[in-house]
Amino acid sequence: MSDCLFCKIIAGEIPSTRVYEDELVFAFRDINPMAPTHVLVVPKAHAASLAEADALDDRTLAACLRACGKVAAQEGLTGGFRVVSNCGSDACQSVPHLHFHVLGGKKMSEGMA
Ligand code: AMP
Ligand code: ZN
Repeated sequence: MSDCLFCKIIAGEIPSTRVYEDELVFAFRDINPMAPTHVLVVPKAHAASLAEADALDDRTLAACLRACGKVAAQEGLTGGFRVVSNCGSDACQSVPHLHFHVLGGKKMSEGMA
């Protein structure tokens, strides 16, 4: 998608701090971190959110989840981590390219909403 921020980051047209990449997935540091580790894991193929998961093949979706675990291990999040994917306006999604926030490095709050 030519006007998508994360597609441009994946293509290297907008700079980012890459932390992980494979054939299907790109992961980079969030520009506005909410935890000591805050990485965004995104599929290289464009889909707006999990509401459009049918637009992605199963390999890609699985690769995203696997990459979350790899990023957590790489970042040394041995105490645990949280994965969040905001979907749509009620969830305050601000970038319409599916992404998984990997958050860690501190004790999280118990509440999720
Ligand atoms: P969401 O609100 O769930 O859609 O998350 C979008 C995330 O993208 C936010 O946490 C932003 O801080 C992050 N973000 C926006 N622009 C950039 C950028 N250029 N590089 C890295 N992260 C970004
Ligand atoms: Zn995109």
